[in-house]
Order: sequence, then C-alpha cells, then structure tokens
Amino acid sequence: MSASAKLPPFDPADPLGIDDLLEPEDLAVRDTVRGWAADRVLPYVAEWYEKGELPGIRELARELGSIGALGMSLTGYGCAGASAVQYGLACLELEAADSGIRSLVSVQGSLAMYAIHRFGSEEQKNAWLPRMASGEVIGCFGLTEPDHGSDPAGMRTFAKRDGDDWVLSGRKMWITNGSVAGVAIVWARTEDGIRGFVVPTDLPGFSAPEIKHKWSLRASVTSELVLDDVRLPADAVLPEVTGLRGPLGCLSHARYGIVWGAMGAARSSFEAALDYARTREQFGRPIGGFQLTQAKLADMAVELYKGMLLAHHLGRRMDAGRLRPEQVSFGKLNNVREAIEICRTARTILGANGISLEYPVMRHATNLESVLTYEGTVEMHQLVLGKALTGLDAFR
Ligand SMILES: Cc1cc2nc3c(=O)[nH]c(=O)nc-3n(C[C@H](O)[C@H](O)[C@H](O)COP(=O)(O)OP(=O)(O)OC[C@H]3O[C@@H](n4cnc5c(N)ncnc54)[C@H](O)[C@@H]3O)c2cc1C
Repeated sequence: MSASAKLPPFDPADPLGIDDLLEPEDLAVRDTVRGWAADRVLPYVAEWYEKGELPGIRELARELGSIGALGMSLTGYGCAGASAVQYGLACLELEAADSGIRSLVSVQGSLAMYAIHRFGSEEQKNAWLPRMASGEVIGCFGLTEPDHGSDPAGMRTFAKRDGDDWVLSGRKMWITNGSVAGVAIVWARTEDGIRGFVVPTDLPGFSAPEIKHKWSLRASVTSELVLDDVRLPADAVLPEVTGLRGPLGCLSHARYGIVWGAMGAARSSFEAALDYARTREQFGRPIGGFQLTQAKLADMAVELYKGMLLAHHLGRRMDAGRLRPEQVSFGKLNNVREAIEICRTARTILGANGISLEYPVMRHATNLESVLTYEGTVEMHQLVLGKALTGLDAFR
C-alpha cells in the first residue's frame, strides 16, 4: 500500500491540519463561541453595520459573560481561567462574525478587566471583576487623547490630589465601549507619573458622547470621554503600577487577541470568496476554474493559514509564560496586514457583489482599517520590531 493511502483527505476548511494542534477542550471552546456568534451576531450584523449601531449591547454582553468569553483567560473572580490558545480561538470566532464584537470582548477582558486584575487592589478586584465577567458591567479603557495617540507619554489628562481625594480632568478619544460603560479605566498624569484610575461612569463630571460618522467598526460603540473635575476617592487609583508600562502591559494582552481575531475576519472573507468562485460562472464556467482566480485563492489560503499557525505559536508561548511584547508586535503587524490583503483580494473575486453588505467581505475589510490602527499602528509595530532587531530606538 502506498503511503498516501493512509493520508487524511485534504480539507479546504483546514488545509494545513491545524486542528491537530488543538485539544478537545480547545475545540469545545471554539464550537461554543462559533455557535453563539452564528445565532446572535451573523443574522443581524449587516443591519447593525448599515445603521452604525450595536443594539442590545448590554444583552449581548451578558450572553458573552454566560459563555465565559469576558476576561476569559483571567483566573478567579468569576473569570473562566481559559488558556491563551482558547482565548485566541474565541477572538477568532468572534471576529469571523464582526470585528466590532471582538472589540467589545477585547476591551472588556484584555484591557479593562486585565488592568484591574493585574494592577488593582483586592477590593477593586472584588468590586468589579465578577460583575464584568458576567457582563453585568461593561468596561472601557481610556488611553488615547485627541492630540496623543501613538505617543501616549504626552497625555494631558491629569489627576491632582485634593485632601485624600483625586480630581481627574481631561479628554480621551476613540474609546471603545465608552458610552455604554459602567466603569472606565482612565490613564492620567499625576505628580508621581502616569497612573491608572478605576472610574465609575455615573460620577458627576464624567460624560461619554458617542463618536458618529465612522466608516469602520460601525457595529461597535466608540466614544469620547470627557472628565471635568471628576472627584474620586483615594482608593480609585490602581495601586500596583506607575508609568506607561501599566497601559502598555494591558495593550500587549489585547493585541495578542487581535493576532487571532484578524484571522477570523480573513477566514470569513476567504470562505465567501471560495464559495463564490466555485459557483459564479463567467465565460461558461465557474470563475474558480480560471488560473488567475486560483492563484488568488492559493495565495489567500497560504497567508491565512500561516497567520493561524503564527497565532497558535504565540498562544503556546503565552501559555508557557514566554511571550515577549515584541513577538506580539510581530503577530499583530503580520496578521492584521495580511488579513486586510485577504479581504481586498476576496473583494475582487466577488466582483460587484464584493462591495455589497449581502456578503461579509467589504464589512470585514473596512473594519480591519481600524484594527490596523488601534492597539498600535502598523508603523509603531514596525518600529518596535526594528528596535528589537537593531538595538536602535527610532521613536524616542
Ligand atoms: C475604532 C477605534 C477604536 C479605538 N478604541 C480605543 C480604546 O478603546 N482605547 C484607547 O485608548 N484608544 C482607542 N483607539 C485609539 C487608537 O489606539 C489610536 O487611534 C492609535 O493609537 C493611533 O493614534 P492616532 O489615531 O492618534 O494616530 P497618530 O498617533 O497621530 O498616528 C498617525 C500616523 O502617524 C504614524 N506615526 C506616528 N508616530 C510615528 C513615528 N514615530 N514614526 C512613524 N510613523 C509614526 C502612525 O503610525 C500613523 O500612521 C481606537 C481607535 C479606533 C479607530
């Protein structure tokens, strides 16, 4: 018998056999999140996107909490304690539905909850994390300001002492979940350096007007945070960190989820293009039978599944406690950049239908424009890698 007779069949949905890398518990997590997204997001998301809204976000958050997707890789305080690979798989399945839903989950778990879990006091953890894990309270993370994006070190938001209290003033911009958040993690300048504050959003002086007219991440709430002398008790500060390493540590965790998530948007677009190529006929035969279309599909598959392998590799390093921030930059830079290219190529295969919301491709492509910019732009991740490779810092 030839060796090839024993080979498993080629599976277009898993051409490299990456599923072999997954444990049964990983597959169970993936199936749960994929099933939830298929029921609760996919049938509606084109309409949400067209209207530029995310209706029922509080209910969606509670459901995401009930399947353990919020603060998923954190331990204790009602969190699921999942592995980094399982968290990554969840991000992939959510972003295969829409980057806006994955953003909701990333900001909740990897930014707001992670900040409290990693840098908070026991009282802060007990007060917020169980309600955030269940989705009862939505969190946001305010670092970016109107004049300070890639370089947050220059932030103007400041907190000054008034007796035992803190008084917080400033503006934050482009804040995911801002208008629906019950708690905001706000990073501000103090006399001792940059500190993080846990800010209940019902305090006087806090408001979060929603940013409209976005052409990307339309099924996601994005807001400005306005802090006009918000008075906070002494214990509102995150006690365990001072300086930019606080927010940057949270961002590294969230970027890790994006490494996976971007491949979800790419997979959805690739599958739409593959299906279309098999069924759409021109010149008397399926367009998938033309060599130029096959070259596009082959190149898309190569980048898609290379990106997934990279995500798995980084996930295993994170689970082993060996993942460096530069390696996360490597993954975010590659996977988001390639995911956009895959969506753009898929768009060409769908021809005119590629620009329609009847198909997911253009929605994913425009969403990924935000993903390319937030949590560190392409250029910043190139500079991080450039610095790591050369030992020379090009941006400070
Ligand atoms: C939909 C959406 C949601 C977001 N959610 C959040 C959130 O929840 N919380 C939050 O804090 N922020 C959030 N952001 C903000 C995001 O993190 C910033 O937009 C990002 O950090 C870039 O900052 P900027 O837009 O001010 O661009 P800038 O920093 O002004 O950059 C503009 C351009 O200049 C380039 N550039 C800057 N410096 C250099 C350099 N040294 N060398 C070469 N090129 C350089 C950049 O790469 C970019 O191409 C969100 C953004 C979007 C679009």
